[in-house]
Amino acid sequence: MIIDLEKLKDLDLKAFFFDMDGVLFDSMSNHAKAWCSAFDDLGIEFSAYDAYMREGMTGASTIRDAFTRQLGRDASEEECKRIYKVKSHYFESLPPAVPMEHVLDVLKTVKAAGLDIFLVTGSGQVSLLDKLNYFFPDIFHREKMVTAFDVKKGKPDPEPYLMALKKGGYEKNQAIVVENAPLGVRSAVSAGIFTIAVNTGILEDKELSGNGAGVVYSKMQELYTELPEIIKRSKMIDL
Ligand code: CA
Repeated sequence: MIIDLEKLKDLDLKAFFFDMDGVLFDSMSNHAKAWCSAFDDLGIEFSAYDAYMREGMTGASTIRDAFTRQLGRDASEEECKRIYKVKSHYFESLPPAVPMEHVLDVLKTVKAAGLDIFLVTGSGQVSLLDKLNYFFPDIFHREKMVTAFDVKKGKPDPEPYLMALKKGGYEKNQAIVVENAPLGVRSAVSAGIFTIAVNTGILEDKELSGNGAGVVYSKMQELYTELPEIIKRSKMIDL
């Protein structure tokens, strides 16, 4: 076991909250490539590591952040719009992201254990539910989703995860979050929820543990292997 089972002793598990990009779909490398290309066009240094560290930020925040760091000034609204358009263009030219390996097994295990499943994402794609139903049939439901349309602040604010707790009628100790990004982990941990990080990208584990993740797995398969024991231990209060 990688996880310290002692950390699960106060849980009364009823639900799992899943992030989308980098957890359900292997989409982060495309986002990173698109950001690098867009900044490269402007002669601004921006690495894939920079992109992964900022996963979950809005496009405008990412651009303003890079401007401040590299050019010593803020980006204008016009610049933000223009650069984000270029980034989106690069992103759309890349092959569509596929589901993360073994994540369907993870979802099926959670469902078979009788636990509720929520999606908590900063994404605002209109076709989101169709895409989820196509790759993960009968797992996600419209009323059990928190997306860009629902929140004002978004990650790393705790708002999205607090909203998921509220929608499901759950207490903090009744859910477990699965996240892959530092800002996503910070959001979930700030909401007071035990957070499993799966490091599906290129970051060092410390970026995830440092933001409060209860455990960091290096692959989805590791989580899948330990999941039955995690579920068993997290429901022990009920026994
Ligand atoms: Ca993510």
